[in-house]
Amino acid sequence: MTTLSAKETILASIENNIDDYMELVQTMYDNPEIGNEEFETMALLVNYLDQAGFKTTSGYVVPTGFIGEYDTGKAGPTIAVMCEYDALPEVGHGCGHNLIAGIGIATGEAVKAVIDQFGGKLLVVGTPAEENFGGKVSMSEAGVFDDVDVALMVHPGSHNGVGGRSSALNPIKFEFFGTNAHACKPQSGASALDAAVMSYLQINLIRQFVNPHTYIHGVIKDGGEAANVIPAYASLEYYFRAPTMAYAKEITEKAIKAVDGICAANGVTYQTSTYECPYEDTVINYLLADVLTEKYEELGLTDVQPVDEVATGSTDVGAVSYRCPTIQGFIKICGEEVNAHTVEMANATISPDGKNGLIKAAQGLGLTILELLENPEKLVAIKQEFDTTIATLK
Ligand SMILES: [Zn+2]
Repeated sequence: MTTLSAKETILASIENNIDDYMELVQTMYDNPEIGNEEFETMALLVNYLDQAGFKTTSGYVVPTGFIGEYDTGKAGPTIAVMCEYDALPEVGHGCGHNLIAGIGIATGEAVKAVIDQFGGKLLVVGTPAEENFGGKVSMSEAGVFDDVDVALMVHPGSHNGVGGRSSALNPIKFEFFGTNAHACKPQSGASALDAAVMSYLQINLIRQFVNPHTYIHGVIKDGGEAANVIPAYASLEYYFRAPTMAYAKEITEKAIKAVDGICAANGVTYQTSTYECPYEDTVINYLLADVLTEKYEELGLTDVQPVDEVATGSTDVGAVSYRCPTIQGFIKICGEEVNAHTVEMANATISPDGKNGLIKAAQGLGLTILELLENPEKLVAIKQEFDTTIATLK
């Protein structure tokens, strides 16, 4: 009997257990649960990790978060594989997070089979509510990733790639407080709505004077109740998005300054609040991206797209990327004609391409982790790049 190398063990673990992983993916597809309601999904994944020999905790940091730990008891790096598993209303797993979970579990089980040879600690982290509440933000703030050497995941989509930047998102609510009055005796009132409308217009004007790839978009949430009453209350909800959180905060300050002046002009007071979870931008680790590219190509994947430098949206992966070297790769499971957040994308996760994508993505992550376990100096270089980049962003 010949013994398998660590690499062969990882590849075989994923191929041999693929039916189990696809059963998990199918179960999540059949029972989609939206963010912060993923209790059955959490139980499903935790149960699998238990049986695979991980020490698990359910309800970790947030009610539907979990962690599976495997500690070799020997010195070595701490590796975190992230699982998302929240669905969307109406389109179920239209963002393919059920496949992300399958990829994470498969990667975890494969790496667990070899990590004793090297030492260190393996974490499979269940990070819920990516779409709406940012489970990774809560976990990052709780320090889950502070002692992690590298955090990895792969998201399904219409191309193979090593991920890209995402916009920092600062969600700010402006509330305006005026004085009610009969609309035919307006001189005794102060219109919160006027202040809100002027603020909306002025914030629009700020747009011309911001850096490229900065987006400011808002709505009037409250604007009064009746035409014959001068409104005493109005509110605006805004997203300030920018290439970095530092810059998103800078343009938020510009807007607040404008609102301040407008309120003075209208005899109205205001207050601001953060009304949703802020998402940091995604910090790229190019050395880590290089390793995943190399492993993807070794597995026969072609057209592996390089780091996408232009952010098109925001994700809670950003929060993790400010705490430790992080990568969110992509795996192709459908054609370009399939959009994210659709039933077609959900269907792709349980298709033959979805299955093949799970295998390649988990193998790509598994071999990336193996590379770092076998070559600690690479991990040192990756962490140095992380420290250098973060220092420029603060
Ligand atoms: Zn997604």
